[in-house]
Amino acid sequence: MCSLEEALEKILDSVAPLPAELIALSKAAGRFAAAQVLSPVNLPPADNSSVDGYAVLAADLASASAAAPVALQMAGYAPAGKTFLGSVEPGTCVRVFTGSVLPRGADAVVMQEEVKAEPGHPRNILFFEKVKPWENSRFLGEDVQKHTVLMEPGEKFTAMRLGLLAAAGIDMVPCGRRPALALVATGNELREANQPLEPGAIYESNRLSLSVQAGQAGAVTKIPPLVTDDLAATKFALEQAFACCDVVVTTGGVSVGEMDWVRKAFTEIGGELEFWSVAMRPGKPFAFGRREGKLFFGLPGNPVSAMVTFFLLVRPALLRLQGAQDVAAPRQPAALAEPLANPGDRRHFMRVTLDAAGRAHSAGKQASHVLSATARSHGLVDVPPATTLPAGAVVEVLRWD
Ligand code: AMP
Ligand code: MG
Repeated sequence: MCSLEEALEKILDSVAPLPAELIALSKAAGRFAAAQVLSPVNLPPADNSSVDGYAVLAADLASASAAAPVALQMAGYAPAGKTFLGSVEPGTCVRVFTGSVLPRGADAVVMQEEVKAEPGHPRNILFFEKVKPWENSRFLGEDVQKHTVLMEPGEKFTAMRLGLLAAAGIDMVPCGRRPALALVATGNELREANQPLEPGAIYESNRLSLSVQAGQAGAVTKIPPLVTDDLAATKFALEQAFACCDVVVTTGGVSVGEMDWVRKAFTEIGGELEFWSVAMRPGKPFAFGRREGKLFFGLPGNPVSAMVTFFLLVRPALLRLQGAQDVAAPRQPAALAEPLANPGDRRHFMRVTLDAAGRAHSAGKQASHVLSATARSHGLVDVPPATTLPAGAVVEVLRWD
């Protein structure tokens, strides 16, 4: 039996990022840069005004005061997007707006709120204060210099980064390919939603829940039909899944019961099992292996165990396959609103809710068949074996989101 950390290390050591592809920037949200992204331009591309006002020569206003305003003649008009082609000569100014390119010669901008046109002479603008050189000016390359790095490999294309790349005029980016993932549910008792439930049967629920987690981690999921507890059927289902996917995830049938065929089926079709037991609750039976460069995860059937092990062990692998640098779950420190007790001999990833004040509460019954508590939970707290974490203790919540 290995620890969660050893399991994760073995898994990540086996993952080589999938080949990169060039995709449209508009499709890159949530994916990961496969190479450095450099800026083809300076941002801003030219010196420009940060306000609506008048571009001037600062020296012209050296003597300006409320009592003795200086008048400058408006020599031109430069709305955003139109450059004034002349230059600002002594005694003149040019009307500019936020983002207007600074006219040649100008070395400052005065806000329009601070000036007045001379009565009867709308082109004579009165200035009542000095201005410091380069006031209200934004400079070429001040934000981003041409050819500098906008993104490093493995960084995620977030909404904010996409805004920066769009501003730099980038329209195609190199991304790690999304993994194709097959979700194979095993169990004679499982039924599809619209089937009648005879005694002993239950509705299958892992594939939907896990496929949403997989989608949030960037994978594209395929869902084959349910598989009965039978060696031949399991081998057939696994072979089909490996033929079309980079990653195969099964649920159920991975423990030590006579009806648990998954591990045997995987090795009989040529898979190499790396480990099949992790010292954690929920989720002790958890198999990981490889077959022809593809990854295999055998998850326990209990829905809560399947969700937790997917989150802790499969999600990081899916992210790394896409080239992600940071594969850790989002973490949030929180004080416990009540004690969390783990009397068992394995660490327990207990489901908690977070209240508006950021305190963590037990989400309810912590047994691995209790879906309702997990459904309302915001995340997990790792409680060591034979330990009660007291109320007030500050813990780290691994957030589902
Ligand atoms: P197993 O890991 O196959 O021993 O299954 C453990 C428990 O999880 C059993 O109670 C199963 O009925 C249940 N279970 C297994 N697979 C699923 C599934 N896909 N959806 C819902 N429950 C399941
Ligand atoms: Mg089963």
